[in-house]
Amino acid sequence: RKPIIAIDGPAGAGKSTVTKRVAHKLGLLFLDTGAMYRSITLAVLREGLDLRNQEQVTAIANASKIQLFNNPVAEQPMRVLLNGEDITTAIRSPEVTANVSAIAAQPAVRAILVKQQQAIGANGGVVMEGRDIGTHVFPDAEVKIFLTASAKERANRRYADLIAQGQIPPDLTTLEHEISERDRQDSTRTHAPLTQAANATLVNTDGLSIDEVVATIINLYEE
Ligand code: C5P
Repeated sequence: RKPIIAIDGPAGAGKSTVTKRVAHKLGLLFLDTGAMYRSITLAVLREGLDLRNQEQVTAIANASKIQLFNNPVAEQPMRVLLNGEDITTAIRSPEVTANVSAIAAQPAVRAILVKQQQAIGANGGVVMEGRDIGTHVFPDAEVKIFLTASAKERANRRYADLIAQGQIPPDLTTLEHEISERDRQDSTRTHAPLTQAANATLVNTDGLSIDEVVATIINLYEE
């Protein structure tokens, strides 16, 4: 298969922007795996189910057909269809963001989505971003990056992102708290927690421009 670049890290580290640019520059596909966990979360919330009811959540995950399209317009998130309906914007709502970690912690949901991610990347040639790509989804990825930044910096970026998406952001302290809480849940779950793969390169993006981060990753890829 062709090479795979795995980009993992906490919320708001700049993974999506960096992943898209790296993929664009190298002519590879990109896949935002967080969008898949968000899609299942949206489906569960719409059904009004108890998020902790693993049996019902698993049934929803099995019944959900998620289709992801690389958005050709730079700086735009992937286009996401759930059973044919465009949910690109809906999966970014504060309600989905607040509940996604509880859904992503369920092993059955992870098994279903990881299988789909592995199928999408089976031939390689993809830059995949998430929390467990280098540790679980493609442990043999050619390039592994753990992208991070200080909680303050990540809150600032998320704030700017939300404004750019036309949403009204909460104040920065609330945002920083939400991000830290999601990271706490993602890194303390029992199954495939957020953690740096042993052989991943740590890239702290504090004070780095997007172009500098992209160049760092492309250098590692070309080595
Ligand atoms: O990347 P994003 O912030 O959109 O991801 C949303 C959530 O999906 C994360 O907070 C995490 O709970 C979950 N996720 C995951 N594994 C991945 C990608 C995302 O558990 N590979």
